[in-house]
Amino acid sequence: MKRRMISGLALVLMFAGLVLSAEEVNPLLIKVKPAKLTPLKKEALAWVDTALPELTKLNDEIWHAAEVAMEEYLSAEALASYVERAGFKVERGVAGLPTAFVGIYGSGQPMIGFLAEYDALPGLSQEAKTAKNPVKEGAPGHGCGHNIFGVASVASVVAVKDAMARHNIPGTLKVFGCPAEETVEGKVFMARAGVFDGLSLCIQWHPSSENGVSLESSNALNQFEVEFFGQTAHAAGDPWHGRSALDGIELTDIGLNFLREHLQPTARLHYVILEGGGAPNVVPDHARAWYYVRDIDRESVEKDYERVLKVIDGAARMTETTYKIHFKSGVHETLANRAGGEVVYANLLLVGAPVFIEEEQAFAKEIQKNLGLEQKGLSTKVEPFSLPEKSWGSGSTDVAEVSWLTPTTSLGVAFTPQGTPGHHWSAVACAGTSIAHKCLAVAAKVMAASCLDFLARPEVISKMREEWTARKKGREYKSPLPADLQPRVLPRKEGER
Ligand SMILES: [Zn+2]
Repeated sequence: MKRRMISGLALVLMFAGLVLSAEEVNPLLIKVKPAKLTPLKKEALAWVDTALPELTKLNDEIWHAAEVAMEEYLSAEALASYVERAGFKVERGVAGLPTAFVGIYGSGQPMIGFLAEYDALPGLSQEAKTAKNPVKEGAPGHGCGHNIFGVASVASVVAVKDAMARHNIPGTLKVFGCPAEETVEGKVFMARAGVFDGLSLCIQWHPSSENGVSLESSNALNQFEVEFFGQTAHAAGDPWHGRSALDGIELTDIGLNFLREHLQPTARLHYVILEGGGAPNVVPDHARAWYYVRDIDRESVEKDYERVLKVIDGAARMTETTYKIHFKSGVHETLANRAGGEVVYANLLLVGAPVFIEEEQAFAKEIQKNLGLEQKGLSTKVEPFSLPEKSWGSGSTDVAEVSWLTPTTSLGVAFTPQGTPGHHWSAVACAGTSIAHKCLAVAAKVMAASCLDFLARPEVISKMREEWTARKKGREYKSPLPADLQPRVLPRKEGER
């Protein structure tokens, strides 16, 4: 409504001879000038360019490995040993997660964190080609570009370390190897174990279809499985002796679909049935389903979750079955940080969006053509920096946990053709090409340059921390995980190093 009134005003001003661009009348827009190219930044950017051949090799190695959540043994080790060789002290297997690590360099304050992710998605195996073509049918693939994510993060932290070492700059750098983001687990367990404690701030990014810095939040979440236990019987011969576990699941789902009407409009419930019996002529004595409860903030999720539990209990009473809840994980909503975002955005303007050559744009357009989308290619512009129109996002991320423990910045750099879906074979294809290499170079440079600004300007860190304290509104971080919940540790697969 407000926006419409303002665009009406712009129209009047245009008639009055004053032509205002759309950007000038957007009340949410934040004006940021490009950051200065200091001699230190020049060195860090040059370091990334020099290291690029090795970085692209690492990117492709993790892309080929395509390991899913909690199985990222090769990917985590490739990144951990990379920072170790660069002079970081590495602690492996933190928080009871075999594929998590922390690399530490330097000492004293400020203490700046970098997040690296590297898990792939199941079933998305894909060649670096413009049409759907799995490397191996049903195998995992990097449909969220986490191979680029991990490599750009370690590259940026090593670039900063290099400048710090050469110029005797005090401070501590910590790079966090974070497994299992796709299952929203890794950072939740790491946060509970205190792995992120003591940071002055944290720098984070994600591969995207756009180049920009977002101040949007994300939804808080609880995810859990429910197992129902009944009594088996011949479905035709003596069904009265049977108590169907599947009925328990179905009545839960019916109850939840009725519950939706009486939840806040911000609530989101989704589920899949994982196991519902073996044959129609056998009353299933065992059934299993997986649920997500999301909402605008942690408090709302906890309230919704209590009501969901009542529905499950009711379904068990109706069907004379029993049930067991297996809590998988939960996250908070993300706390954005405008003061930090301004620094990252200024450095994105300084570095600029990736410059793609004609072949790369042709590759992207061919994908768009094959998907029936407009052939706009890859984005080469930097999006405007603005306050979000709404204060929550549709998805959930475990980065949120870090944002409650320290001010956390964000950044998106383009690697997927505009308009293509996320978690899709087309993203896997691009993540294994030179498009990804360009994306990672830009991300590494922007984060390194931003970190050098944070190190040189303690007043910005103070401002970020003041904003962070205000956004928490007196609420302190409390892990969403039950105290006795342990991470699910998956063994290293045979034949792996
Ligand atoms: Zn992702």
